[in-house]
Amino acid sequence: MISRRTFGRGLGAVTMITGAGPAVAAPFAWPEGRRAAVSLTYDDSLNGQLDIAAPQLEAHGFQATFFLTRENMEARLGDWQDLARRGHEIGDHTVDHPCELRPFTAKSFEARELKPMEAFLDANFGAAHKRLFAYPCGATELGRRGRLNARQSLYVRLLRRNFEAARIVDGGPNDPRLVRRFRYLLQASAPTYDTDGAGPAIDYVGKAIARGHWAILIFHDIVEVRRETGETSRAAHQAILDWIAQQPVWCAPMGEVFDYIAAHARRA
Ligand SMILES: [Zn+2]
Repeated sequence: MISRRTFGRGLGAVTMITGAGPAVAAPFAWPEGRRAAVSLTYDDSLNGQLDIAAPQLEAHGFQATFFLTRENMEARLGDWQDLARRGHEIGDHTVDHPCELRPFTAKSFEARELKPMEAFLDANFGAAHKRLFAYPCGATELGRRGRLNARQSLYVRLLRRNFEAARIVDGGPNDPRLVRRFRYLLQASAPTYDTDGAGPAIDYVGKAIARGHWAILIFHDIVEVRRETGETSRAAHQAILDWIAQQPVWCAPMGEVFDYIAAHARRA
């Protein structure tokens, strides 16, 4: 998996800043005196997100971000619209979730996967929905021309034209001072992808709390009993939410946290 740490030039300087030990600058001021932020994100428009995850979230008063893939969701469009009306955020996860991006050019990807999906979201969720993107399969290189960095740059330039921010699928919690610079490569973790338990999520959000950073968690389907890689059981999801509710963290949708940071963070 490609981390944003491999992206672009000048990353040596970033690594030096983040790796320099205890920060000298004052910690970032999160709302209500909280020590960190956490955003819960759900990919691929899967039924368990509507039927299991959403009621569990709402029992805690949490709002989350749902990255929708059109081909998965049209059968239950009304339920997704209800979810958005209840205050959850809707984001873009393309029309049909391509994992192999070599056949695309920037133009063909925008025309087939991005523009139609944003038009669909505009029509069904209103043009005021947040312009947020999650990379399908975590693939961040577009097209077949050039080196990896060139193909990532092509993808990011395309996203810049259409979105406010975008989320990848790995990397540590985000330092708020770097969020605007890396707004199209926001780091995240899928803590239940390989194992069905709360431990990895607790470790990851714990790091964010220790550093004053922003943790973005990724979930796929939420099920009664886990049978496949990537699924999260109701029990593990509940345990993660219960733990977060007891922490000094601000739990808010990805676009809301991004906007707060953009308005308040000083650049590194
Ligand atoms: Zn996906």
